[in-house]
Amino acid sequence: MILVSACLIGVDCKYNGCNNKNDKIINYLKDKNIVPVCPEQLGGLCTPRIPAEIVEGSADDVIDGNAKVVNKEGQDVTEEFLKGAYETLKICRILGVKQAILKEKSPSCGSNQIYDGSFKSKLIDGYGITAALLIKDGVDLKSEKYFGGGEKNGLK
Ligand code: SF4
Repeated sequence: MILVSACLIGVDCKYNGCNNKNDKIINYLKDKNIVPVCPEQLGGLCTPRIPAEIVEGSADDVIDGNAKVVNKEGQDVTEEFLKGAYETLKICRILGVKQAILKEKSPSCGSNQIYDGSFKSKLIDGYGITAALLIKDGVDLKSEKYFGGGEKNGLK
């Protein structure tokens, strides 16, 4: 059973109402059991929604209550991001999921790089809040980069 960011298989759950469909990932998953999730929707955020970034710390800091997530209009959406992350963790535990393929750069799903909180499209090393929780729980994360995704946006 593999958990996958729903936007990567074509679900229109991205902040702007679109998706990040990746045909290589879809082909890889075709003969496997998958659980598509969108942590931000699971946290109660609507689609489309205002984009958000982690500010004043890392995903681990958010989990520890020492940093927050704000959207581009300055609204604090930390609670929703944490709820989505813990709901995703719950799904993994219920179903015994040990592997996940996650969308890069997202404040929820990013597993190598995320935006720096300035809303200036600046990437830093780090991971999203859902990714951080899954790592702590021993889930093996693969970024979309593993399948050739994300390069056009400046990822290595
Ligand atoms: S990256 Fe994660 S939180 Fe963002 S739209 Fe995709 S599945 Fe949802």
